[in-house]
Amino acid sequence: MSKTIGIISIKGGVGKTTIAASLACDLSDNYNKKVLLIDANYSAPNLGLHMNIIEPHKSIHEVLANKTKIKEAIHYRFGVDVIPGSYIFEADFNPLKLKDKIKKLKNNYDFIILDSSPTLDSEILSTILASDNLFIVTTADYPTLSCSLKAIKFANQRGREISGIILNKVHNSKYELTLDEIEETTNIPIIAKIPNEEKAIRSILSRIPISIYSRKSGFSREISNISAALTNSKENHSFFSKFWHSLRKEQVNRQVLKDRLYNN
Ligand code: ADP
Ligand code: MG
Repeated sequence: MSKTIGIISIKGGVGKTTIAASLACDLSDNYNKKVLLIDANYSAPNLGLHMNIIEPHKSIHEVLANKTKIKEAIHYRFGVDVIPGSYIFEADFNPLKLKDKIKKLKNNYDFIILDSSPTLDSEILSTILASDNLFIVTTADYPTLSCSLKAIKFANQRGREISGIILNKVHNSKYELTLDEIEETTNIPIIAKIPNEEKAIRSILSRIPISIYSRKSGFSREISNISAALTNSKENHSFFSKFWHSLRKEQVNRQVLKDRLYNN
């Protein structure tokens, strides 16, 4: 069963592209899934910087402008099919054609991952309408949380639910909002808690997604936990952590998500 996963937020810099790229690579690398990753941030298309595609021969812009067939815009990197965006494309294109364009490819993939734009217009709407499941990326501060609330409302007004929140760049500082505070405010479960890690920044400089660049990092392990829920698989925890930790909230939420996705 193919699933289209939208990674959204209406704030830039929270980690959408980093998460979309590493989730796509992890699903392929660790779960042997066939994945298509698409840059749906048409105004600032920097997925190529994460996936080492600097000069794409064709992009999602040409596809949405009906200037090329979608298959011709596919590049292959790190085990994943990628459709990047173009910084230099100037003709008119229609973001809302995305759903229709990817429909033709759905049967070829286990997962299609959309890296969304943060702009609250047809750009983010193209991801919202094309996705089967939406995940909001947020950080644990009030300004970002208020943006996340706006994004949730925007999706809900269009009849779309948010399947979970991915909390990124967590410092575990006492000045951060807690998981409970974020869940109570949004009424949406947090399905992952990704630490703030310098490796996330270094991996972009090397143009290698962090789930490949540093497989054992806290970032990559939490991404893999999301992949486990999405693929109906068991999470891969170290032998000792099973004894030291009781089930964390985000782990329980992933189990609930898995049950919902697969009617377990
Ligand atoms: P967005 O797509 O939401 O605009 P990006 O994925 O481009 O955000 O990330 C913005 C910056 O934050 C990048 O430099 C990236 O390396 C960094 N970043 C993302 N996640 C983390 C993290 N968990 N820890 C540290 N830096 C991060
Ligand atoms: Mg981005």
